[in-house]
Amino acid sequence: MDMKTRTYPDTRLLIGGEWHDAQSGKTLDVLNPATGKVIGKVAHAGIADLDRALLAAEEGFKAWRQVPANERAAIMRKAAGLLRERVVDIATLLTLEQGKPFAEARVEVLAGADIIEWFADEGRRVYGRIVPSRNLSAQQLVLKEPIGPVAAFTPWNFPINQIVRKLGAALATGCSFLVKAPEETPASPAALLQTFIDAGVPAGTVGLVYGNPAEISNHLISHPIIRKVTFTGSTPVGKQLAALAGSHMKRVTMELGGHAPVIVAEDANVALAVKASGGAKFRNAGQVCISPTRFLVHNSIREEFARALVKHAESLKLGDGLAEGTTLGPLANSRRVTAMAKLLENARATGAKVETGGERVGTEGNFFAPTVLSQVSLEADVFNHEPFGPVAAIRGFDTLEEAIAEANRLPYGLAGYAFTQSFKNVQLLSNRMEVGMLWINQPAAPSPEMPFGGVKDSGYGSEGGPEAMDGYLVTKAVSIMAV
Ligand code: NAD
Repeated sequence: MDMKTRTYPDTRLLIGGEWHDAQSGKTLDVLNPATGKVIGKVAHAGIADLDRALLAAEEGFKAWRQVPANERAAIMRKAAGLLRERVVDIATLLTLEQGKPFAEARVEVLAGADIIEWFADEGRRVYGRIVPSRNLSAQQLVLKEPIGPVAAFTPWNFPINQIVRKLGAALATGCSFLVKAPEETPASPAALLQTFIDAGVPAGTVGLVYGNPAEISNHLISHPIIRKVTFTGSTPVGKQLAALAGSHMKRVTMELGGHAPVIVAEDANVALAVKASGGAKFRNAGQVCISPTRFLVHNSIREEFARALVKHAESLKLGDGLAEGTTLGPLANSRRVTAMAKLLENARATGAKVETGGERVGTEGNFFAPTVLSQVSLEADVFNHEPFGPVAAIRGFDTLEEAIAEANRLPYGLAGYAFTQSFKNVQLLSNRMEVGMLWINQPAAPSPEMPFGGVKDSGYGSEGGPEAMDGYLVTKAVSIMAV
């Protein structure tokens, strides 16, 4: 593997195009989840730092909105190119701080470049319109304008990609962008934003802060400079932030938790279902908002499916994400190990059978064995709360109606998966599944050009497709009378 270095840098705050320590000098430790050891530090912003970052974002907005869309696109494309050039270094940082296998980190960085390029091009197509007037001496225009400085809050499971979906839409529409990225995985987001500085965005167009998440979100969301809020994370935190944003009349995009049902119908190609959903299940150790989690399998093929999924889980190689051959890394932080242990304790107590895994592995780092549960009770926590870990929980069903009712039972509505070879089933599933994204006979395949987002408690707004741009634009109706 062509990896240049395992050196991990300390991360500072990006304010007005320059990197700064926190005014107080305060820092937080960053740990490597494969070893549990401290590998670096990240600056912890206080209110004075946030106020400087806000003023910089205001200046950045004034400058960036004046850059013509084609020039903005050229700068964004340049940043994407730099991200590609630096992929090995940035992916190494990402694995060191987050734990995922290097190959997954590499794909994340490259996908980030692709997303930025897509938004760069989409920004050139933000058209208004001319509306025929009822008075022939008047002209009516509909203008689309950038909403203003954006405050973004992104989580640790995809340190690069959770940012680029927001950053891409914000910059493409002419907004400035101030992000509180995850304190636990700070260096790869800093490397991402450095590509924009190097590509030539005006000072303040992009900013990056770390610190106390609640303090930062309270300060930024309620501040008059911020006009738009975008958050990815858990549903409970999302609801708090949406309420705060609502009380300040700020536009919001919320990409929250999910609990994705996987319906494997009687006529499914079982080998395909296992390969596709098994691959998706254990990607990033299951710490993915669209991870398949509730496996609903027709009773006639349930045991065959469970056996094959166990085989898949047992074929994974658990280890340090930078070690050759690793296909499953550690969990990103020790909270997840505790959460998995509790989930398993509850699953066992409510009658589930542990087909494989079910335990923490080793005492150093946050390793948890890939786990398959069968005969899972509907009351089990794992069938009700987002597991966010390497656990697949299987239940049987007899009719597709029954499976769809179970899929829709929870308040979540992010991703869903289904495997069937019948057009009639596909029609029924497409019409009735209460999800924002449905993948049939395939693993999740999000692309920048397709909408990405949820319904119900999984949030609102989209982070893909032209719909993603709408969240960052305001509409102005201009009527001009010839005099
Ligand atoms: P958490 O719910 O406290 O944090 C989730 C994310 O939100 C973190 O990035 C955190 O920094 C941020 N956050 C928390 N409180 C905040 C606040 N008041 N203002 C702004 N940001 C805030 O806990 P956690 O242990 O990090 O994660 C727990 C659960 O969160 C997971 O089990 C999973 O369900 C969910 N999660 C979802 C995603 C996703 O992609 N949708 C990503 C990470 C975590």
